[in-house]
Amino acid sequence: MPLHSINPYTQKPIKTYRTDSPNAVERKLKQADKAFADWSALSVRERIEYFRKVAAHLTDNKQRYGELMTAEMGKTLKEAMSEVEKCATGCNYYIDNAETFLADQSIKTEARRSFIAYQPLGPVLAIMPWNFPFWQVFRFAIPGLIAGNVGLLKHAANVSGCALAIEELFTNCGFPEGVFQSLLVESKNVEGILKDKRVKAVTLTGSEKAGASVAATAGSQIKKSVLELGGSDALVVLADADLAKAAETATRSRMQNAGQSCIAAKRFIVEKSVKKEFTDRVLQHIRDIRQGDPMQENTTMGPVARPDLADEIERQCAESVRQGARLLHGGERDNCNVQPMLLDKVKPGMTAFDEETFGPLAVIIEARDEPDAIKLANQSNYGLGSALWTQDPEKADRLARQIQAGSVFVNSLMRSDPRVPFGGIKVSGFGRELSEAGIKEFVNIKTVWME
Ligand code: NAP
Repeated sequence: MPLHSINPYTQKPIKTYRTDSPNAVERKLKQADKAFADWSALSVRERIEYFRKVAAHLTDNKQRYGELMTAEMGKTLKEAMSEVEKCATGCNYYIDNAETFLADQSIKTEARRSFIAYQPLGPVLAIMPWNFPFWQVFRFAIPGLIAGNVGLLKHAANVSGCALAIEELFTNCGFPEGVFQSLLVESKNVEGILKDKRVKAVTLTGSEKAGASVAATAGSQIKKSVLELGGSDALVVLADADLAKAAETATRSRMQNAGQSCIAAKRFIVEKSVKKEFTDRVLQHIRDIRQGDPMQENTTMGPVARPDLADEIERQCAESVRQGARLLHGGERDNCNVQPMLLDKVKPGMTAFDEETFGPLAVIIEARDEPDAIKLANQSNYGLGSALWTQDPEKADRLARQIQAGSVFVNSLMRSDPRVPFGGIKVSGFGRELSEAGIKEFVNIKTVWME
């Protein structure tokens, strides 16, 4: 089956890509295996030099790459260009820090010398989603390749143009052949690739279903896996919060990328005494969203990436209304253009509370008090990135520790930042990306003991 890129705003086909034949996949695996021998023999400093070129190339070409992302998956050009810049920032972070992270670590023992060496594993398969088509890939590739691994990207079926552009970018920056390759394959063919002996590990960013399937295959082969899966993250607003800032940030968190972000604040949990004011403020911010052509500068929300995603978010909203929630805004849809929705009176047991919602749907959940707010926040199968709004630092410290999530951002927009680890607990996955923790996921932490 060929892979189709369709512009979600215009619904016009962009391009159809032929999938790689079994022979082509075999050639790429062979090439990756061969490339690993030379690439891993370079020093960390030598590998870092390549990423200086990548950072400059990304910055110089952000308009072109931004337009490609916008065309294939519908995010606004402004969002897409800042995503390209973020990839350059990620390069610069590891350019500055990777040597320190990967330096041998001396350990004091009774041995004459004992130390830890961090050595690469080999070709790593990276299965990535379409929602941040550049950032998700670079988030793995920068630390993964600097550590000495080589990358095989299986990108989402609707962003093959991005997959090939990223592969070409590495070639243009002078990387040896085979260090980074894109595989244009259907997801049903991933199992065979992952089982291939030359592939040493896998990282997947995507849904719970895909994660469970890929991790099962990796487990059957005793291969390391990192899973960055979905979220249904809480944004807790306590009575003492700065409501103006909280409402503005909550709306931005939920509605950026047309609501298609794993770490979006998906459940606004608000203390009863401030719920009305917070809701009114969020409603105003939602009314201010300008939907339209994502290529246009004044558009603040583009379409969702595919019609089936629009169907799904509509279903989740309608079902929640039938279950007793109240729709305060939204409800209209033109193909992939979904009007941002705001639901009030959402409770546990309703679809919008229990399921991950991946589209422009904000929900308000009332909490009786602070303990009730934390209980509701943790009443989820997911645990990726939460937010907490309070002006009391002691309370913030105490409650941030009680929230079950991979990260908690207090009085700030939940986001991924190269300096801090990123990842989830519960069904949001395991393993970490970014920071020192991320670069150490795909290395052999080798003990060397010399008497
Ligand atoms: P998805 O269906 O799981 O797709 C993600 C990737 O996995 C795609 O490349 C897809 O390929 C592939 N895939 C799907 N099923 C597979 C299988 N059985 N075996 C191997 N590969 C498979 O995810 P999505 O619905 O497009 O993306 C949204 C999800 O990703 C949401 O749940 C979101 O929260 C999550 N996400 C998580 C993070 C994070 O950092 N934690 C970041 C972004 C998104 P095809 O396109 O060919 O099916």
